[in-house]
Amino acid sequence: MRIGHGFDIHPLVAGRRMVLAGVEVPGEVGCAGHSDADVVLHAVTDAILGALGMGDIGEWFPDTDQAYKDADSSELLDRVARQATAQGADIVNVDVTIYLERPKLGPLKTAMRERIAGILEIDVSRVGLKARTFEGFGAIGEGRAAAATAVVLLESGRDREE
Ligand code: MG
Repeated sequence: MRIGHGFDIHPLVAGRRMVLAGVEVPGEVGCAGHSDADVVLHAVTDAILGALGMGDIGEWFPDTDQAYKDADSSELLDRVARQATAQGADIVNVDVTIYLERPKLGPLKTAMRERIAGILEIDVSRVGLKARTFEGFGAIGEGRAAAATAVVLLESGRDREE
């Protein structure tokens, strides 16, 4: 078993699409960044890389590389998940927390869980996703940033043990 942890934060700006966990969030602002700036998928990607001991998302997909300009973060996560498979590791479960002051994500949470499960090719029951506000504190609380944390558990060699 290996555990991995990921964190990401991006500023919120007017005139950008907000994409969280691969799902478009309607509103006036979106996450600024080189790629589509999906803080949720970036945190999950880093958690898997962390569990594999294989660096971080910035090393794999540098924001100085034009190839990743406006990149679809689901494709980046898919590549890293395939790396886990190539290492003989199965994803046991993923747990995500999103930190966003507004809008409320309640109506989108099921779609977000399903999207993450789809990219990782695991059952949706293995994906936890919570959303919370920052109670008005700091950049997140003032609606100037969105952040996410993720933990992932990988299990190696399950086929051999069964
Ligand atoms: Mg990021």
